Amino acid sequence: METDNHNVTDDFSCPVCKARQGWADTCRRCKTDLRLFRRVEEAFRQSRLRTLAHLRAGRWTEALAEARQCYALDANADAGRLLAVCQLLSGDWPAALALARRWS
Ligand SMILES: [Zn+2]
Repeated sequence: METDNHNVTDDFSCPVCKARQGWADTCRRCKTDLRLFRRVEEAFRQSRLRTLAHLRAGRWTEALAEARQCYALDANADAGRLLAVCQLLSGDWPAALALARRWS
């Protein structure tokens, strides 16, 4: 059974004051409105799940397009490795190698 260890709901750092907290509409410390950040994180999470679904179904072209979208939403190590896998499966080995080196 696959596990989804990219859980964006448990831990979050306020982009303004860096207070660590669970997801909320406003920061517990500085009261910054965090709703837009939540929407971006949710869009990232959904994009990542769509990428994985395309990979499971063997749809490499669709997986690559979705992985690029996912990486554009949040260029983190998880998204970078996922994009590198999609590039590798699509035959773009130089790009896959460059990303793998960046996020290894
Ligand atoms: Zn804050």
